[in-house]
Amino acid sequence: MTATTSDKAAKAPKPAVIQVENPSTGEIIQEVPDLTEAQVTELVERARAAQPDWAALGFDGRARYLKRMQKWFLDNTERLTRQIHEENGKSIDEATIEVMYGVLASSFWAKHAGKYLADEKVSSRSPFVLGRKLVIRYEPLGVVGVIGPWNNPLLNNFGDVIPALAAGNAVVLKPSEVTPLTSLLMAEMCLAVGLPEGVFAVATGSGATGAALVEQVDGLMFTGSTRTGKKVAARCGERLIPVSLELGGKDPVIVLADADLERAANVTLFSAMHNSGQTCTSSERVYVEAPVYDEFVTLMTDRFKALRVGESTGFGTSDSGSLTFPPQLDIVSRHVDEAVKDGATAVTGGRVKAGAGRFFEPTLLTGVTQDMACMREETFGPTLPIMKVADADEAVRLANDTAYGLQAAVWTKDTSKGEQLARRLQAGTVTINDALANYFALELPMGGWKDSGLGARHGKDGIRKFANRQSVLVTRFGMKNELHGMPFKAKNFNALQKLVGTLYGHPRDTKG
Ligand code: NAD
Repeated sequence: MTATTSDKAAKAPKPAVIQVENPSTGEIIQEVPDLTEAQVTELVERARAAQPDWAALGFDGRARYLKRMQKWFLDNTERLTRQIHEENGKSIDEATIEVMYGVLASSFWAKHAGKYLADEKVSSRSPFVLGRKLVIRYEPLGVVGVIGPWNNPLLNNFGDVIPALAAGNAVVLKPSEVTPLTSLLMAEMCLAVGLPEGVFAVATGSGATGAALVEQVDGLMFTGSTRTGKKVAARCGERLIPVSLELGGKDPVIVLADADLERAANVTLFSAMHNSGQTCTSSERVYVEAPVYDEFVTLMTDRFKALRVGESTGFGTSDSGSLTFPPQLDIVSRHVDEAVKDGATAVTGGRVKAGAGRFFEPTLLTGVTQDMACMREETFGPTLPIMKVADADEAVRLANDTAYGLQAAVWTKDTSKGEQLARRLQAGTVTINDALANYFALELPMGGWKDSGLGARHGKDGIRKFANRQSVLVTRFGMKNELHGMPFKAKNFNALQKLVGTLYGHPRDTKG
């Protein structure tokens, strides 16, 4: 007996899917395909075919599409905000901040891509190149892969696609399997703004889908954990393709005795609790100089107690949304429980909030020590340990005592002292009397030191990484042969030596 077509269909393995959950309610909201290697190959091939025409449009041609995106973000803010909120669990207010970033970034890269990637003439006084024209120029890499995390479904996913497109690349985005829906909405946006077919695609799927993408692209932008980032970087190293890594953090805050404590408390509250602490650049530990420690703890306690935790239904309805990713609840609980077991005090919160969804009570920890997990490992949750220090030197020493180096904040009314301290901190970004604000200055590079990453987003580095650099040397009026040309002649080398002596033989400062 032969099997019928419908029997075969019934027996065929079902395509793998990923269920996307609303973390505030626990409800499954959609399924997306878990793409196989072959399906990733198809997307990359389509991108490769579309890229040359996209590059040929030039900066102005591509900027027109970016400006249409900017308008789309503005026209569809509410829909996009809801989508981010629904799959990530962050408040409506915080989801809107991501959309505002989309507006800023599409406008910024439309305006600045051409400037940052313009041909640059350089001059040299080297006697070997006298009279030559020297130019640095850039070419798109080809197909860029962007792999993103779940904590910012727009900002750290499509947000990094924008400069890659502006540089003339085609892009395949692999969003986190936890929050892929916002990226699918970005694909819809690209269709709506008329982006040429194949220039942008979304590869939904798990880590294996991401790994398949790494195998095929010409350059990679990765945002995620340090653990995965190191694996991905190793593979990019084997393939010798450029990779930019934005990884984890354990960002310190230093509060000096002369700080404006009220502003320090308000801004640190936001930087620690924004997105329920699930931000790579969240303030994860605070060192306060002894004379103002008690006052600062009181200010923070009042603010932590006043936070409204729960499902956000509109602007101003909740300050702390749900944790997005189930294992985060375990990590946050472990950091708090271990600290308390070892002598710390949870001045507020300390527990998972009862009821539906994945909410954790905002938790302020005092009596912590530097060796506790809550002071050393990335917590990525609504907690903030505060520690008393004797002085700024001790604060700097402890702030640097970490594998991470993403961001740091210093609070002092003496801003020159703040800038001096910034120079001693091992972090890609330091804010003085502020936190997080730097992310919205797209002129300013943002990237980590140590285990927090390699390379940067934003600024000229944030787009040049999506291009191959070419140096061009043009000789317009050359002699028939060079002084150092063959056959070698003693008189030529004597002349060359003399020239080098004349140009470089009198270093001004040889003392010491
Ligand atoms: P993750 O490393 O678990 O996953 C990130 C992405 O990598 C996901 O899309 C995942 O599917 C993919 N992936 C997993 N294994 C892979 C593999 N072998 N090859 C290729 N791709 C693979 O990180 P996460 O939990 O999604 O994100 C949270 C982390 O991201 C935190 O550590 C946070 O600090 C960091 N983060 C950093 C920044 C920054 O700018 N520095 C911004 C946001 C988040």
